Amino acid sequence: MRALRAGGAGMTDVAAVLAERRELGLLRELRVLDSAIGPRVELDGASVVLLCSNDYLGLAADARVTAAAAAAAERWGAGAGASPLVAGHLRLHAELEAELARFKDAEACVLFGSGYLANTGVIAALAGPGDVVCSDALNHASIVDGCRLARAETVVYPHGDVEALDAALARAPHGRGVVVTDAVFSMDGDLAPLSEIVAVARRRGARVVVDEAHATGIVGPGGRGLVAALGLEREVDVVIGTLGKALGSYGAFACAGAELVAFLVNRARTLIYSTALPPPSVGAALAALDLVRAQPELVARARANARLLRDTLRERGFDVAPGEMPIVPLLVGDPAAAMALSAEALRRGAFAQAIRPPTVPEGSSRLRVVSMATHRPDELRLAAAAFAAAAVDSARAHRVRDRPWLSRSPSSS
Ligand code: PMP
Repeated sequence: MRALRAGGAGMTDVAAVLAERRELGLLRELRVLDSAIGPRVELDGASVVLLCSNDYLGLAADARVTAAAAAAAERWGAGAGASPLVAGHLRLHAELEAELARFKDAEACVLFGSGYLANTGVIAALAGPGDVVCSDALNHASIVDGCRLARAETVVYPHGDVEALDAALARAPHGRGVVVTDAVFSMDGDLAPLSEIVAVARRRGARVVVDEAHATGIVGPGGRGLVAALGLEREVDVVIGTLGKALGSYGAFACAGAELVAFLVNRARTLIYSTALPPPSVGAALAALDLVRAQPELVARARANARLLRDTLRERGFDVAPGEMPIVPLLVGDPAAAMALSAEALRRGAFAQAIRPPTVPEGSSRLRVVSMATHRPDELRLAAAAFAAAAVDSARAHRVRDRPWLSRSPSSS
């Protein structure tokens, strides 16, 4: 087969883009893992502690969840075979929607193909020309793309700045505003000031959409999320969640009032024009949800491990806030230095990918370190020691004088 040609008038110069990315330390490459996701994985011929998955509860490869996926495949098939409104909406999908609505204490729920599709579909359905969408500066890329797709005016307010949000909504025509925010920010692990956001939105007659991708299964009573933790179930218009993180599967959902869900079924193009979720993913999510509800100790263990990881990193000299969120950013700044830190840590048995622009703002490249409920304490201690030793070595190699990820010299002993 001939290689695809790049270049020519009006065409992206593929080779130049790749060369530039490499030059800037921003080239992205897929890595192949030789095992299922778990607290340890096989990578490049070694068993290493996995510290960069979103499988917070360790359910993706849990035997009860994989057995449910297999059983769903046997009973309902490997694929849904059609989009939901044509013939793809099986009894199994309806069951999961009912269970998710119950879990989130919502009137109704509808499934989407992924969190990316849920965010783009919901935002573009709710907002259009003449509306104003207010979006936190650190919202996930799928929210950013949803705003673009909506073709409404988008106001990006500074991260967590409720006053700026209020000022933006004040300029929007009453009833034409939509506020969109992550509940837990994916690259920083901090929480949105949701009660304040909801109060401002209510006052200004705006709708509120909350993406609980990283809150579901972790935050709030029984892992029901930040909206539930704050008792805002009747205040937030749409709660979005994904099945691909704490619930160990794939797909996503939107919970809302029955009328709003009916509206999404009629207007969300990413739902209407895409094949319904594969039955094994739906069966797996149902089993995972059962486990979360039946075994609250799973959520407690995820939080305890997050505390342990944070405390251990702090003891090693990293500038890490105490808390119970498994997402812990180790800020580096320079993308090449972040890559070097990741590589050094991997050599010592701890795997955390470097996260670079445009996923995070310019100058804030980092390791996004994530604990799981299934990590053993010694694995988290090994990881903290590996990051500390790697920080010393990579700072020396890169002659980094200013090491913003450290509050003091890390002890690598
Ligand atoms: N929202 C947030 C906050 C996310 O972090 C992600 C995934 N990284 C998504 C949505 C997209 O979800 P999915 O992976 O199911 O497409």
